[in-house]
Amino acid sequence: MNASDELKPDERWKAIILFGLNNATYKMALANCLLEFASNGETTIKWDELAYSFYLQYKERLSENNMPQQTHPSRQTKLEVIIKQTNNGQLTEEQAVERVAREGFVDVVPRFQTIGQEKIPGSFYDYDFGKNLTLKDSTLQIAELKKAELNDEISARWSHLEGAFMINRDSDNQLANDVRETYLQNGYDRKPLTHNKPFLQAYQGNVCFYCGYDLASNIHVDHVLPRQVVNHDEIWNLVLSHDFCNTQKSDKLVARHFIDKLIARNENIMGGNHPWKSNIERMLGTDPVARGKTLEKHYDQVQTVLGSNYWEGSSYNPETDPFYRRVITLLANDTKHK
Ligand SMILES: [Zn+2]
Repeated sequence: MNASDELKPDERWKAIILFGLNNATYKMALANCLLEFASNGETTIKWDELAYSFYLQYKERLSENNMPQQTHPSRQTKLEVIIKQTNNGQLTEEQAVERVAREGFVDVVPRFQTIGQEKIPGSFYDYDFGKNLTLKDSTLQIAELKKAELNDEISARWSHLEGAFMINRDSDNQLANDVRETYLQNGYDRKPLTHNKPFLQAYQGNVCFYCGYDLASNIHVDHVLPRQVVNHDEIWNLVLSHDFCNTQKSDKLVARHFIDKLIARNENIMGGNHPWKSNIERMLGTDPVARGKTLEKHYDQVQTVLGSNYWEGSSYNPETDPFYRRVITLLANDTKHK
């Protein structure tokens, strides 16, 4: 591999900020703390210093705009609880910071330097949990060269996550509940899906349904319309994707262009001679027009439930996102070389 085959430190950083599960905003807060320490030239950070800096991130954030900090509509992050208890006098600031030091980093410090299931090569710090965290040269370097730009990027991403968490709460209405209920009644328990891989591979080519890049290892059978809504494992809704792409998409709504792609893929199956043809006919219809309409109707119903909780945006296509493609290509290469 030559130098262009690796993510540069600022690209690794950007991948951490943009990608991964992001069920909460912790990575954004930690990223700001790390840049701040780095730009002050502090390389070994004591745990309570880090906790105080982390605490301040949330104190400021939540006083400016009181937006949800994690995905589940009826839960709160530890930091939201701690800040609230400090504001109403249940905790002193000292007690608050002590709790952050104990409970606030349990997930984020170990996981910050991974995206999806991938531990990204090269890292920004070492740590001794509960004691200290030591910044590496790459962190000092990007803080020196690009701090303002990176802070802006973190800030934009943080707002984006809060917006998505808010949508999750807003889409909980009667119509959405009715659609959920119908899918629940007609649904069934999860079935094992891996045996579908060879079949799907034959009709999809050996590329990921979402990003279009070669599938190597870590192939995932994915529900295009999220299973947590449709409650079934029907073949018309199953595609192959990278683990990475599956994690990025998670239970969100895909852009409508993916539905056109799924319709085309299903018609591809219908043109073959597989026993599952009859299954697709039964589920979607006996002719292409009827099948297309049924699938679009499912998409509309799922949209009623998920609102505008899109994977990135209503027309997002990772295939035409150069940075996404660069990351997925290098992660795939990295996996192959392991
Ligand atoms: Zn992919």
